Amino acid sequence: MYIVMISSECAPVAKVGGLGDVVQGLSRELALRGNNVEIILPKYDCMRHDRISDLNKVYEGLWVPFYDRWIHCDVYSGTVDHLKCLFIEPHSEHNFFNRGIFYGNYDDAARFAFFSRAALELMLKTNRHPDIIHCHDWQTGLVPVLLFEIYQRLGMSHPRVCYTLHNVGHQGVTGVHILKQVGLNQNHLFTADRLKDHTYNNAINLMKGGIVFSNFVTTVSPTYANEIHYTELGKGLQTTLQQHSGKFGGVLNGIDYSVWNSEIDPLVPHQYGVHTLNEKVKNKTALRERLMLQPDFKPIIAVVSRLDAQKGTHLILHSIFYALQNRAQFVLLGSASEPHINAQFWDVKRRVNDNPDCHLELSYNEELAHLIYAGADMILIPSIYEPCGLTQLIGLKYGTVPIVRRTGGLADTVFDANYSDRPFEERNGYVFNDLDNQALESALSRALGLWYKYPRYFRQLQESGMNQDYSWNYSGNHYLNIYNFIKA
Ligand code: ADP
Repeated sequence: MYIVMISSECAPVAKVGGLGDVVQGLSRELALRGNNVEIILPKYDCMRHDRISDLNKVYEGLWVPFYDRWIHCDVYSGTVDHLKCLFIEPHSEHNFFNRGIFYGNYDDAARFAFFSRAALELMLKTNRHPDIIHCHDWQTGLVPVLLFEIYQRLGMSHPRVCYTLHNVGHQGVTGVHILKQVGLNQNHLFTADRLKDHTYNNAINLMKGGIVFSNFVTTVSPTYANEIHYTELGKGLQTTLQQHSGKFGGVLNGIDYSVWNSEIDPLVPHQYGVHTLNEKVKNKTALRERLMLQPDFKPIIAVVSRLDAQKGTHLILHSIFYALQNRAQFVLLGSASEPHINAQFWDVKRRVNDNPDCHLELSYNEELAHLIYAGADMILIPSIYEPCGLTQLIGLKYGTVPIVRRTGGLADTVFDANYSDRPFEERNGYVFNDLDNQALESALSRALGLWYKYPRYFRQLQESGMNQDYSWNYSGNHYLNIYNFIKA
């Protein structure tokens, strides 16, 4: 099958969070199964150029309509981890992708609406006729709309579109003028059953457009699919999802075990697996040395996360002090885009700066993330909502016991050591329900208690997690079934 991914992220070249990992991991799985996969991305100035090989200009003079003019683009081809990527580079005074950041500009909606149109224009001009176009999140929500409204008539009548919602917390709510900018008919599309936003009367919703116009819609775990379908976690999209429930389902994300695997991870100083778990402690020592924590007989609790309110930042802050008062060390790697959250964490960082049991690294650092997964004993994910979550899956593979709130994909993948109704060998972590300090503390204290008092059982919990398979094997198959279903 010929599959084109259109995405704003792909790890490791352009990654902000899980979206980048998923596009890379799923594409790799599909390619390994013999499918022809191409990924179309913006050519950001800030992407990791060192992770792209054979970057070559392959198309000059792609002219993309934008408002009342045409913007000239060049297209580059390159290989990222054996995957073929096409990078679109527009040349105009807007400087759409030369901003030094991936997201966070006042005109993000226009930047990615333009990218969506450019991706389709590229496929048309280069005679690409994929069986499936798979697009992701609000940034590419206009792709199926443009395909249906414009490009089908221009000859692209074959492709079917699968659209994945990675996080409905960001829906691309923007002004109606965006439709005109990319050549779409405002009167026809600005209606309640098409792109009109459910909350803001004068706005359109790009994610809603993606849901309405694509052939199949997925989200990244079965529990999150239920939550956004039936509860306020749908953030206003419940009605649209209910209207389109016949083409909607949850497919659990996997992780790429060629990247996230403690047995072969080149960024882990002492590689180890389930049969060589004793080696893990050497990484704990390496982590302590790197972050200047004192050597001591204490477990390390880690957080690796975007510091966004969604991630339960109030609970993360509380857990730092709880850990320090309860004979644990604490390591955090996180970056905040909201200034007030950033300020909160910097404030705490200053307060704990001299504490030899604690280190807060307030940045984005791929290499350090790998060392933390390998060196920590437990990983904490107290999210308010979590569509799938990858850090608990990585933690499981690295024998780092997850402590999570029961929501979304966390509920689908972490099973409580004491209270789960699963067989003992499937239990792999600690789970709490409520969003308050007591619930968090009770899970943390059970995990710390096991580590101190029953190390043999703690090790069993680690081994159970390491033995579970959260690779793309199963989910890759699931996506192929969906592609075949909509292609038929
Ligand atoms: P989200 O997509 O909401 O950010 P996920 O759990 O799905 O959350 O994916 C997070 C991914 O981003 C993981 O691969 C994690 O290791 C990585 N990550 C998050 N924060 C950082 C950071 N500060 N430095 C390095 N990697 C990070």
